[in-house]
Amino acid sequence: MASTRYDLTREQLGAVLDGEPKYRLDQLWDGLYTQLADPVDVTNLPKALRARLESVLPSALTAITESVSDRGDTVKFLWELDGGSRVETVLMLYSDRATVCVSSQAGCAMACGFCATGQAGFTRHLTVGEIVEQVVRASQRAKQLDRRVSNIVFMGMGEPMANLGPVWTATERFHGDLGLSARHITISTVGIIPGIRSLATRALPVNLAVSLHAANDTLRDELVPVNRRYPIAALMDACEDYLDAKHRRVSFEWAMIDGVNDRDSDARELAVLCRRLSPHAHVNLIPLNPTPGYPTTGTPLRRVDEFRDLLESLGANATVRRNRGTDIDAACGQLAAGQPVTVKLDRKQLSRSVTAPRRGTRRGIWRAG
Ligand code: SAH
Repeated sequence: MASTRYDLTREQLGAVLDGEPKYRLDQLWDGLYTQLADPVDVTNLPKALRARLESVLPSALTAITESVSDRGDTVKFLWELDGGSRVETVLMLYSDRATVCVSSQAGCAMACGFCATGQAGFTRHLTVGEIVEQVVRASQRAKQLDRRVSNIVFMGMGEPMANLGPVWTATERFHGDLGLSARHITISTVGIIPGIRSLATRALPVNLAVSLHAANDTLRDELVPVNRRYPIAALMDACEDYLDAKHRRVSFEWAMIDGVNDRDSDARELAVLCRRLSPHAHVNLIPLNPTPGYPTTGTPLRRVDEFRDLLESLGANATVRRNRGTDIDAACGQLAAGQPVTVKLDRKQLSRSVTAPRRGTRRGIWRAG
């Protein structure tokens, strides 16, 4: 695959500019990362050079569609990548911040049955350039609306910890070159312990989110198959060590599934886990969003509130998250880039990805539905 404009390091871009005066590199870097411009639009570069750069530094993302919801405050981008895979990015504008939700892989090998990306299976890892450019393109859109992207969450398609090299290099670019604070960058994981441990050794104190969804191994084995490899007790040890190393809050994502993980007993078990990390754990409750391949529905809002109150009364911090973009399939767990949900996992690709839980065993859930 040819290197795209946001794949290259500053040094590598310098090599592309070989023979040009030294200051051209600063101008190009500033054009790409401060002005968020295409090379052809970096107007302080000579015209002929701009044209050459535009062709040797292609864009990684071809826009396919852009869908808008919430009166313009949620924008979902569908991109096509080199090779034809598709991924999605979501820009969410709030009164006090603008957040980009980025994808780290085309598809996902983690096979969580309730997630549209998991239902579609894994296609490939994204490169640094493909990850960074999602944020740049969303930031260009924000700029047109007189807004500035302030937060980035790795909560789009894919499992960031299974592609941690490029995810981390992209994170360093967000921080060092796009000027985002580490405390405004969140990496979300299904619970891949080696990834959490690796993150704890890195310099930037980014936020960690763990997609927990169940607080006992029997239920979590079914909802989040990777739990069979990385069970809850060991996962909590890794979260605690992350907290000790980074002094960052750890958030637990909890998609509320009617009759499955919204019982009083679930709240009690979850509160025990939270109290151990107290006061640094925070639970985000999201009623399950509908996906084509999963029969169970989200918990009614009244019960979501009750569940939150119960957690709070048991000493755990919890917030009910407002769903963004459900009508354009842009909400949590709905990103599938138009893929049919029956796509078979490619065994070869699966064995190359870091952790590849076996699919299947959702029996209890089908019953619950
Ligand atoms: N693979 C990473 C990043 C994806 S983040 C991770 O699992 O954390 C996407 C978030 O949406 C995760 O918390 C995921 O569990 C949650 N999610 C998946 N399907 C969902 C659904 N149908 N409704 C609500 N949340 C869902």
